[in-house]
Amino acid sequence: MDVVVIGGGPAGLSAAIRAQELGLKVVVVEEGRLGGILPQCIHTGFGLLTYGEDLTGPELAHRLINSYQGEVLRGHAAGLEYSYHRKRVRVITEGGTVTLEAPTVIYAAGARERHAHEIGIVGDRVAGIYTAGEAQALMDLYGVLPGREVVIVGSGDVGLIMARRLSLEGAKVKAVVEMLPYPGGLARNLMILRDFNIPLLLNHRVVEVRGRGRVERVKVVSGSKEEWIKCDTLLVSAGLVPRVKLLRRAGAIIDERTSGPLVNDRLETSLPGIFAAGNSLVINDLVDYAMEQGRIAAEGAEEFIREGGIPSQDWVKVIPGDNVRSVVPQLISPGREVIAYVRPSKPLNDATLTLPNGRVRLGVIKPSEMLRVRVKAEEGGVAHVEIQG
Ligand SMILES: Cc1cc2nc3c(=O)[nH]c(=O)nc-3n(C[C@H](O)[C@H](O)[C@H](O)COP(=O)(O)OP(=O)(O)OC[C@H]3O[C@@H](n4cnc5c(N)ncnc54)[C@H](O)[C@@H]3O)c2cc1C
Repeated sequence: MDVVVIGGGPAGLSAAIRAQELGLKVVVVEEGRLGGILPQCIHTGFGLLTYGEDLTGPELAHRLINSYQGEVLRGHAAGLEYSYHRKRVRVITEGGTVTLEAPTVIYAAGARERHAHEIGIVGDRVAGIYTAGEAQALMDLYGVLPGREVVIVGSGDVGLIMARRLSLEGAKVKAVVEMLPYPGGLARNLMILRDFNIPLLLNHRVVEVRGRGRVERVKVVSGSKEEWIKCDTLLVSAGLVPRVKLLRRAGAIIDERTSGPLVNDRLETSLPGIFAAGNSLVINDLVDYAMEQGRIAAEGAEEFIREGGIPSQDWVKVIPGDNVRSVVPQLISPGREVIAYVRPSKPLNDATLTLPNGRVRLGVIKPSEMLRVRVKAEEGGVAHVEIQG
């Protein structure tokens, strides 16, 4: 075996497909269903950049699953042991624990959702509080409507998409509550609020839930103003956090800005031969980028095996400057043009991105829209990436 891929979502499957194309022997470890989050995302908007087609999540999942001809091990990867040439992945399966051994691992375990208690919402412990992903799985995998009168926390794409799904299924979305002064989602998803006549409360926060057995009302505050909104369901869409437990335990360095592992331009973590891709590397708003990262990681794994390691070099350190929340990769090879994913920290109307290899006029930018750019830096030094408004 050449590579163990942890996670069979779009990033992991893309990594596995590319690794097979490159002649590697692959096993994908998946604890749930292949396709990751895709099978429960029944809306369109997937694969536009990769295929030039507007696919639903299940359609894209189907395409990826059919393209991968290799082995899949059903089970939970619960341990990752590291040495330079050998990695061991301990997998808990229905039939018992299995240990896989390979020179490389591609870690593509996706992300977890932030829950109500993580964003300071207090009150009664009642039924009817869901994360967006939990509510989506209930509706689109199991055919259960999670509630009838819903308040949504968070105006990112996931929250907006859920506002539409709930409205289409007959629920009343009473408000989308956003603590920032601007909405989080892509422009195309913001149209949903207008289409379904849903109020967007900017600069507002849900702070408390009350009910007996089930949610009955939530308290919303803005400055010194507060009001109670009657509802039976609170849906929390307050962002995703890369799932990095195994990487962290194995000793990988985690970047505070992305909450994912620090990587070089092959997407290799600080543990040589262990690569990362998709939402466990950095939260991607577009599945196309998660899939691309899977392919880059697979090419890195092939190089690692062919060369006996990624050539050690004087990595150029990428420094996020003004208006840049994060950049992945954090280390790049001198003289090599590489793909970088840049997350702006605030919305700007007429933005220009400054890279070591030049300036790019961006126009309107938002933190919800990750930028994909080509970066090249010369030997010796650091690569500053900044955005001017
Ligand atoms: C509600 C929602 C709507 C979205 N809409 C769009 C859209 O319209 N267009 C678009 O381009 N993108 C969209 N996205 C973003 C896109 O879906 C993600 O970027 C993409 O799914 C990330 O892929 P991934 O493979 O990194 O993670 P995931 O899809 O989360 O897959 C990770 C996989 O790893 C498995 N796993 C985790 N830990 C382990 C372990 N220890 N052992 C074994 N298996 C494990 C999980 O079971 C899962 O199958 C949306 C995302 C969400 C949540």
